[in-house]
Amino acid sequence: MKKLRRLLLRTLLFTFAILLGLIGLQSLRFSSRQISLPAVEVLPVADRAVQRFAASVRIPTISHPDWVDSLAFEQLHAFLDSNFVDLHRELEHYRVNAFSRVYHWPGKNSQLRPILFLAHLDVVPVEESTRAEWQQPPFGGVEAEGFVWGRGTMDDKMNALGMLEAIQALLAEGYHPERSVYLAFGHDEEVGGAFGAQAIARRFRQQGIEFEYILDEGLLILEEALPGLAAPVTLIGTAEKGYLTLELQLAIEEGGHSSMPPTETAIGIMSSALHRLDTEPFPARIDGPTAELFRYVGPEMDQPYQALFANLWLFGGLLKKQLAAKPSTYATIRTTTAPTIISGGMTENLLPTRVTATVNFRILPGESMTSVTQGVRDLIADPRITVTPTESLANRDPSPVSSTSDFGFWVLQKTAREVFPHTVIAPALMVGGTDSRHYTGLAENVYRFSPVQVQHRDLPRIHGTNERLSVENYRGLIRFYAQLIRNSCK
Ligand SMILES: [Zn+2]
Repeated sequence: MKKLRRLLLRTLLFTFAILLGLIGLQSLRFSSRQISLPAVEVLPVADRAVQRFAASVRIPTISHPDWVDSLAFEQLHAFLDSNFVDLHRELEHYRVNAFSRVYHWPGKNSQLRPILFLAHLDVVPVEESTRAEWQQPPFGGVEAEGFVWGRGTMDDKMNALGMLEAIQALLAEGYHPERSVYLAFGHDEEVGGAFGAQAIARRFRQQGIEFEYILDEGLLILEEALPGLAAPVTLIGTAEKGYLTLELQLAIEEGGHSSMPPTETAIGIMSSALHRLDTEPFPARIDGPTAELFRYVGPEMDQPYQALFANLWLFGGLLKKQLAAKPSTYATIRTTTAPTIISGGMTENLLPTRVTATVNFRILPGESMTSVTQGVRDLIADPRITVTPTESLANRDPSPVSSTSDFGFWVLQKTAREVFPHTVIAPALMVGGTDSRHYTGLAENVYRFSPVQVQHRDLPRIHGTNERLSVENYRGLIRFYAQLIRNSCK
């Protein structure tokens, strides 16, 4: 008995030692993916640039689902023409569907594939009930307390105006790119992009242009992004999730009076189907862009986080549990399920025979609209309920995952390292959608990143109340685009 116990103890100790050894070995192999580079000269940004940015916010280019505020968009185009005179003289430019705009800065070497930066000129409206909560008027373009305040300062006028400022500054230096640079500014991103981005992309396809890489708005430089990591993280979106809305329809023969209900009612059947979807979510997976994120940030973390991220083979389950605790991180590791509309029944004492429910899914790369639809059918497993994708134009498969070893990612990483040297740079998955989905196929690699540093608590300002961007952030953004063009177009 004693012998057996000793043997057991020895085996246990041995296993433990092996495990520790493996953890240690993996941790050692977990080397930094950050590149070190000498700092670059800081591009001076004139106050005039900040004033121009503020002035652009005063033009309320709100996009609406079924009409275009042509007056506001005309005003913005006139504003751009008169404020970037040199740029409009030097670059080719044209409008698409009247209110979107494309710029082309021809490079010296036509053998090099051009690059394309995307932004959008439209903004979301301001909810009337929140107006009183704004510390500065949403379309006032006020500069106060070190910030430019107003709708569009974080989404997405800073990118459009910042790109123009960067090019204007490079022109003033007498810089001429080797590689062509294109800018494409849509006017209806917030309502789907059908007349802006989609039309521009169609035109590029007709012209047979293939880009070296495409950069669109997207993830940000996030402070306190992860526990055990003091530095802000420059998150470069290498993919975005797909989108699918399904309609669940149930029709039964028997309705009847509520005084004598049958054992199963239409509302009851639909409820249990929805309950299933809620309680049996799509599986959580740490792979693709999210696994890459951890490979990039892990080595920069303090212990014990570093060991944890280096040993996902062992601690993956633990990490999944941690990520599942918050909706924002849970969304990065699974296809999410969100029942958004339910309807059925008209009268308090009659049982309905028809009930419908609408459920919205955001699809993780690796799954598709087809596999999610099938998954839902299998899970509900009730022939009385039909599951059909809606006609929504927003429905789409997840984007392809862009490479982290190609030129595009490398040049973004290099530029971020030079302009934001205090940050850790990492690829990541974007949970929301951007205009860039319309450009699929025009470049092998599409990245989603807005060079702006924010805290978690600033995120609700985007599309929300008190949207604002610090002047320092705006200066950094202009520097980033100027340096990105220099680095990409040598
Ligand atoms: Zn946007």
